[in-house]
Amino acid sequence: MPKPITYCLAMPKPENHLFEVSCHIESPEADGQKFALPAWIPGSYMIRDFAKQVLKLSAQGPEGELQMTQLDKQSWQCDKSPGPITIRYAVYATDLAPRGAHLDSTHGFFNGARVFMRILEQEQKPCILKISPPQAARYKNWQVATTMPIQEVQPAGFGSYRVENYDALIDYPFEIGKFKKLSFEACGIPHDIFLSGRLHSETDTDRIIRDAKAITEHHLQFFSKPAPFQSYGFLVMVLGEGYGGLEHRNSTALHCSRDSLPRKSDEEVREAYRTFLGLISHEYFHSWLIKRIKPEAFVPYNLAVENYTRQLWIFEGITSYYDELALVRSGVIQQDAYFEMISENLCRYLSTPGRWVQTLETSSLEAWSKFYKPDENSPNLTISYYLKGALVAWLLDLTLRQKTQGQYSLDTMMEAIWTRFGKTGLGLPEGAFENITQEITGLDLSEFFEHSLRTTRELPFEEILTDFGIDYQCVTEKSDKKTQTVVKSNLGVKLKTLGNEAQIAYIYADTAAEAAGLAAGDTIIAIEGLKTDKLRLESMIAEYPVGTAVLLHVFRRDELLTFTAILKEKVKAICLLKCRDDASVDEKNKLKSWLQIKS
Ligand code: ZN
Repeated sequence: MPKPITYCLAMPKPENHLFEVSCHIESPEADGQKFALPAWIPGSYMIRDFAKQVLKLSAQGPEGELQMTQLDKQSWQCDKSPGPITIRYAVYATDLAPRGAHLDSTHGFFNGARVFMRILEQEQKPCILKISPPQAARYKNWQVATTMPIQEVQPAGFGSYRVENYDALIDYPFEIGKFKKLSFEACGIPHDIFLSGRLHSETDTDRIIRDAKAITEHHLQFFSKPAPFQSYGFLVMVLGEGYGGLEHRNSTALHCSRDSLPRKSDEEVREAYRTFLGLISHEYFHSWLIKRIKPEAFVPYNLAVENYTRQLWIFEGITSYYDELALVRSGVIQQDAYFEMISENLCRYLSTPGRWVQTLETSSLEAWSKFYKPDENSPNLTISYYLKGALVAWLLDLTLRQKTQGQYSLDTMMEAIWTRFGKTGLGLPEGAFENITQEITGLDLSEFFEHSLRTTRELPFEEILTDFGIDYQCVTEKSDKKTQTVVKSNLGVKLKTLGNEAQIAYIYADTAAEAAGLAAGDTIIAIEGLKTDKLRLESMIAEYPVGTAVLLHVFRRDELLTFTAILKEKVKAICLLKCRDDASVDEKNKLKSWLQIKS
């Protein structure tokens, strides 16, 4: 049995935002132990250089202080040591994001990738993690929320945990503080939801449990047994504003807004709550797709540099497709609400000019430099592999169902890659998903994949939907005669969300704003000599007919400039999905089978 690496994590003064960490290595490498902090965290594809928050680094051997050499921005090497060594350091933690580490007088939260050094060449050794509580009286009620396997802990959760290797050590987030714990069983497996942050007094926790149980049971039954975990935890940070999550092997760290949680007085599933349920569903589905079925490029992760793959559309796009589909299949939302969700996705997709520029595979490959580093030109240059990936997954699912008379579907494919790659731990090679889909279904789908993944040509939604009894209308506001929408003039900008000023976040390509010479960052202060702001800009512009030349006063940095914009019509996609009144029995049955509607 290899001796484990022992990590100790303390937070003697949470108010100084420092996690104090030590790492004890029984048998350091003979020529001087190297160690490093990851540059990124799996699930969030951006180099973040976590080592920049490390301070007070030192190392001790049996004979006292050891010298060490910094090798690069994130790695160090100790001098040779005649025996075991202990590395000590602190990590400054003020990033509250689900991918982050955060410590203050209200709570602690961390992902192992932010705080635990990787001991090079010893990554496969088991790790013990000892967590001790802050001592001051004000922290006496703090508890630990995590799903990391316990070795020996006190009732509040402080004590020691043990995992099989470094990869596991950094795959269990911890929340430490005061939280509300909701527990339920899904298919016999214990699940906990830890709600941190302030809740509204009318929050309907029973409803959260009921809906989370329905969604998790759905996913557990979707994939063949055994389930990939024996317990599961949702670590939820409730904020005034917030949305996001990061998946882990049997837990997830989430952010949600207080208003997105259901209230006791709610009769329907509000849109914000639907979004929260979608997030739960998404991260849970990842337990299979990306935590166990992984792109070959992630097996193993190289935590020092970018890990490139063209397959994120599978891992994030298909997950996004199923996170919403599971809501209707599990019965937590109705068919109408599901159609509304797809319509919104279609609308967002069709309103993104970048879909003509970036292919789905390229979007995945460039995630590190584009999706995760958006700027003012992103809508014109990029398309999200979540958004387009989910739409392609949807088209693929319906295509498989249509072409095989319901014998095969994307569900079949998920089960196939779960069996071949998830259960075996083999990485999914680039291109393998296409080959396996064709192998199993016997269909020639080369044109479908080429079109969807490697070109920017429009996706063929309309044809396939008819076969499922769905009426699909996609119109711009200009041509939408059915709802009598008036043709509106438009500048073609998106404003920043913060503040009341009309400051430009994005300028869409081929719009009045672009032609006039406006730039992202400009603040529009007046239209035709009248004051404007974020709330009034759109309606003030809409009052002028298309083709009007309007005078704009604008601050660029601290310089007042004037521009003349020739207004164009507003081109905004509106998509409507509904069941056709004249759908045949066969078409209705196909729809029911897809959505798994029982009656
Ligand atoms: Zn995801």
